[in-house]
Amino acid sequence: MKNIGEYDYVIIGAGSAGCVVANRLSADPKIRVLLVEAGPPDRNLWLKVPIGYAKTISNPSLSWNYQTAPEPELNDRSIIWPRGKVLGGSSSVNGLIYTRGQAEDYNHWRQIGNSGWDYDSVLPYFRRSERQIRGADEWHGDKGPLAVSDLEPNTLGDSFIEAAQQAGLPINQDFNGATQEGAGYFQVTTRKGVRCSAAQAFLKPIRHRKNLKILTRYLVTRLIITERRVTGVTLRDKTGENFSVSAKHEVILSAGSINSPQILELSGIGSGDRLRQVGVDVVHDLPGVGHNLQDHFQVRSIFRCRKPITLNDDLMNPLRLIRAGINYVFRRSGPMTFSAGSAGCFAKVHPSSKTPDTQIHFITFSTDRPGEGLHKFSAFTSSTCYLRPESRGEVHITSSDPSVPPRIQANYLTATRDQEMAVRGLRLSRRVIAQPAMTQFFQSEERPGSALNSDEELLEFARETGGTIFHPVGTCKMGPASDVNAVVDSELRVRGIDSLRVIDASIMPTLISANTNAPVIMIGEKGADFILSS
Ligand SMILES: Cc1cc2nc3c(=O)[nH]c(=O)nc-3n(C[C@H](O)[C@H](O)[C@H](O)COP(=O)(O)OP(=O)(O)OC[C@H]3O[C@@H](n4cnc5c(N)ncnc54)[C@H](O)[C@@H]3O)c2cc1C
Repeated sequence: MKNIGEYDYVIIGAGSAGCVVANRLSADPKIRVLLVEAGPPDRNLWLKVPIGYAKTISNPSLSWNYQTAPEPELNDRSIIWPRGKVLGGSSSVNGLIYTRGQAEDYNHWRQIGNSGWDYDSVLPYFRRSERQIRGADEWHGDKGPLAVSDLEPNTLGDSFIEAAQQAGLPINQDFNGATQEGAGYFQVTTRKGVRCSAAQAFLKPIRHRKNLKILTRYLVTRLIITERRVTGVTLRDKTGENFSVSAKHEVILSAGSINSPQILELSGIGSGDRLRQVGVDVVHDLPGVGHNLQDHFQVRSIFRCRKPITLNDDLMNPLRLIRAGINYVFRRSGPMTFSAGSAGCFAKVHPSSKTPDTQIHFITFSTDRPGEGLHKFSAFTSSTCYLRPESRGEVHITSSDPSVPPRIQANYLTATRDQEMAVRGLRLSRRVIAQPAMTQFFQSEERPGSALNSDEELLEFARETGGTIFHPVGTCKMGPASDVNAVVDSELRVRGIDSLRVIDASIMPTLISANTNAPVIMIGEKGADFILSS
């Protein structure tokens, strides 16, 4: 196999975390960095227009288009799982919402044995990456590469926020500030109305660096391991030819929550019994690889709207569609700048919760499934998810062939708490939309529909219609040595193997209480610091 060079660091995957690590390591011109990405460069126009995710998430040339195995608690439905396969990874196709979670999420990580991951310790990394349009303060930075902007207010969003207030929630102007609780507009990762993916933020400005090589359309197939030390990787180009590349210091796995455990298992790192079953030689028995999968499960309520002011209406009317296009091209405003939720709220729904346990994404359009066409009637959506799910799933290889997708079993709603919270979430949506501020828009509840009222009926609706909100984490969990299922230590080094780190969403020991892109970028910042100071 032809060797195509030696680098100090080889980073696998140019997603939210991988782009950050590549940027920070290559800032020193003496450090030679290779970043390998399976997908193409991010040239497609729909990767730049915010609303473009509706098109890109189901485009097989930009997304892995995974699917879970039949989910036992979802009436055996398989759930479609898009993941970005392009420079920028999932940050190039995501819903753009910028949230960090709660201080308590990170303090919990520290309490379970991960020193240095409490909120006070991670906050400087959030601030470092951020270019906050409102300027810097105690919680925000304004000098970083990642542009964080305000959304344009809209009539329905304003009314939703007022309704949430009428339902008893405080108004919150900044979900990433002093407190998360309340209703308001989300902030988004855009710059002047254009998506600011991790690739646009962290790679585009530095692509001229001579010590940074970026390979696109190369699939990393395995790690090269000699006496428990990773010395390089094997990769395959689009013609199927295989190459090797050497890493003098370290290999960094940033392939995301599905592919990082896949690459570990393909390389012989994982549960010994499982690897032998699929014909992979065991290099290191590490039982936690691929376990601990967690995701936010969203249940969407759809409400018919009395007035033709939803995005559904814009798309149904050719004149309004043209106006939306013109508005975007000349003013970078209007419906084309919409994210996966304009307004929203974080609420304490369970009586025992001390901090918000449920998030609503209020969406000014409706569809049967994200990425599919919009409904041909005026409608808006209130999508709820329980923020700290207890169900745990798994991701594992079923073959030693790197081109065979791993088997994903999310196990949604297998914990009774998650079932209860799905029902409570649906009731929260109903309660907010029933407030006086929404009366002028509310026509009827399309889904679940007013005929469904009992807990059993609402739970069945969740089983039949709920799905991912695209936040899988935890499959290469960080944890102390006493935790047999920990895959990496608190400096993100793979336990029992030298010169290998995992730096991406998969290291989260527990899912944070919000959307995951900003936290993964923080993990990239912190991970790069570990490498540079080692
Ligand atoms: C449709 C969608 C909507 C979302 N909406 C939001 C949102 O609004 N707000 C938010 O905060 N979060 C959102 N998220 C989640 C967020 O984007 C992710 O949590 C985050 O991007 C994950 O970052 P990562 O670095 O772990 O993985 P990724 O960004 O997925 O990066 C992994 C990269 O590795 C590459 N790769 C994988 N295997 C290989 C291989 N073998 N060889 C080479 N390269 C490989 C992939 O192609 C990919 O580019 C959304 C995600 C999706 C998919």
